[in-house]
Amino acid sequence: MSINRIMRHLGEERSVIREIFEYGNARKKEIGADKVFDFSLGNPSVAPPPEVNAEIARLIAEMPSVQLHGYTSAAGAPEVRAAVADYLKTKFGAPMSTERVYMTCGAAASLTIALTAMSEAGDEFVVVTPCFPEYRVFIEQAGGKVVTAKAAADFHLDLAALERAVGIHTKAVILNSPNNPTGVVYGRAELKVLAALLQKKSDERGAPVYLIADEPYRELTYGAEVPFLPNLYPHTVLCYSFSKSLSLAGERIGYIAVPDGCADADGLFAAVCGAGRSLGYVCAPALFQRVAAKCLGKSGDIAAYRENRDLLWNALRAYGFACVPPEGAFYLFVKSPEPSAKAFCERAKKYELLLVPSDSFGVEGYVRISYCVAKPTIERSLPAFAQLAKEYGLI
Ligand code: PLP
Repeated sequence: MSINRIMRHLGEERSVIREIFEYGNARKKEIGADKVFDFSLGNPSVAPPPEVNAEIARLIAEMPSVQLHGYTSAAGAPEVRAAVADYLKTKFGAPMSTERVYMTCGAAASLTIALTAMSEAGDEFVVVTPCFPEYRVFIEQAGGKVVTAKAAADFHLDLAALERAVGIHTKAVILNSPNNPTGVVYGRAELKVLAALLQKKSDERGAPVYLIADEPYRELTYGAEVPFLPNLYPHTVLCYSFSKSLSLAGERIGYIAVPDGCADADGLFAAVCGAGRSLGYVCAPALFQRVAAKCLGKSGDIAAYRENRDLLWNALRAYGFACVPPEGAFYLFVKSPEPSAKAFCERAKKYELLLVPSDSFGVEGYVRISYCVAKPTIERSLPAFAQLAKEYGLI
């Protein structure tokens, strides 16, 4: 008798990002926190909008605590689910019903539940690389197979690659926009072509290819439009999280919404409830369900992220680094000046710059910089980036 080998491996395998983060913490103790420039984690650096704490205070003052902290229904408190459906209807004109909103513990739970709800033996799930590394873990735990479609050179969608990747076994395509790690926001035109492609594939085989919209960064854009996917393609399942928009990453709150026009919407939602039940994701944190319901569409100080982005992007370009134009989320994706991103990160470490090599996102030769840090950290890091650029002869 032995324990589950796959789970043991997942538990023992060290996440590259976490490893860099831990290294940064140790280094900060050695040489001082202000001398280490840790750009590894995507942990929001701005405070939640004031409505969050105001609503927490109001709920604590006004709601009997035994009720406030008790179980809600498995899918969430009815008034919270209704608020989410109403918000989506009003904001996007989308056909959404309270009955098909499921409150979850952030995007990670939204995705694992949605994937488990859909997946049957032999199913494939298409991801656009570079992508969030946990997609592979979530898809495989759901019994699915990962199929990758590389993004285009500018990191927008490569529709020919997607056409090749979507086959008769594809259950769903996962799309993440604004994107982690590239900061790209997919435009309406390319999404319309994707929607037509998925509709054509669905018609050909007589069964829908679902689209899973992984949207933790929906509100974090710097001017670019983020088209609402269910309005472009009906078989879209929304996997939303309040982690980044409301800076509530540690509170674990989000939702799944299955739109009215989605194929077998009721069956799929029943499977979402079943998957939530079998994974133990019932009754998302009750206090934060209610807080989120009052803060729909709100966000922390996006202007602060924009300042960070502009400061870093302008400096890195002036130093000769090539970066993907960042339109949303809080990441810069920078081309490594040498073929190995890992080697580049090692050299950056000499200047106390902690960057994440792109290999774990499924492509080689880039690094991700999370600019959700305090602005002075970026200001202090610029001479280090300049020295790094000099080492490569860029300036
Ligand atoms: N999807 C993407 C693209 C992410 O970047 C993240 C977190 O960084 C998640 C999902 C998971 O989000 P959550 O913390 O809400 O589970």
